[in-house]
Amino acid sequence: ATSLTDQVIVVTGAASGIGRATAEECALAGAQVVTVDRNAEGLKETRGLIEQAGGAAPIGELVADLADHAAVESAIAKLAQYEPDHLFHAAGLIIRRDDINDVTLDDWDLQVSVNQRASWFLTRGFCRQLIARDRAGSVVLVSSISGHLGLMSGSWVYASTKAGVSSMTKGFAKTFGSHGIRVNAVAPGLVETPMVRGGVRSKEVDDLINTSVPLRRTADPVEIARASMFLLSDAASFITGVTLDVDGGWLRR
Ligand code: NAD
Repeated sequence: ATSLTDQVIVVTGAASGIGRATAEECALAGAQVVTVDRNAEGLKETRGLIEQAGGAAPIGELVADLADHAAVESAIAKLAQYEPDHLFHAAGLIIRRDDINDVTLDDWDLQVSVNQRASWFLTRGFCRQLIARDRAGSVVLVSSISGHLGLMSGSWVYASTKAGVSSMTKGFAKTFGSHGIRVNAVAPGLVETPMVRGGVRSKEVDDLINTSVPLRRTADPVEIARASMFLLSDAASFITGVTLDVDGGWLRR
């Protein structure tokens, strides 16, 4: 058991990949999970997987398109009823363009709205609720090592939104630390989720692994989940404002 037992954890992006794995691991660690995603069908599947693995089903499921600011505000209001202690915000998207000249204004707006703006407003809203309840909880946002690298397989816009996530993580940590609230981020390298295999040619992924990743493989989503749970839990009680690279050593090369 970890210190997450009986804690209420909101997990966004829970219909797939890293969010799903984290919702499942948290449930198996005895936490009470509230899942959020725009994909209702995927949330149902996540519920089924959690139950199959022997975890407690989510106590709440919220379908929301976090690209829409009104939906973000309404999600924050609806989440209050669960009196959550922790937020793990994994909802995000990438739009890859092989040619920098093909990047459009819509690419910018969508990636900024989900990856960056929703991260900021969700975290602010969540921390305000913690303060109102006089509760010291924690938040983990999801950055990416592409935020440090500046570019990875056509991720011009995505990379800068993720650098923004790491920056706001420090800002929130400074702002809410006096309330005992910790805000950290994880920066995954390549993780085996639909985002990676769906968007990058397999040969390109394999080349990147061989040239850039000391551990010579991609991550399983559960490995990102466990690092995130460490940061969410009391095991990381004196860690705040940090972006933890969970990248198989990529940035150390
Ligand atoms: P994924 O595509 O498997 O899952 C992303 C989830 O976010 C999906 O369930 C999707 O429905 C949800 N989502 C997307 N846009 C949304 C919106 N507007 N409103 C609500 N939900 C929305 O991808 P993943 O790989 O699990 O990614 C999770 C996070 O990890 C993302 O923030 C991503 O940028 C980050 N990340 C992934 C990798 C990787 O290699 N897979 C690497 C670094 C960072």
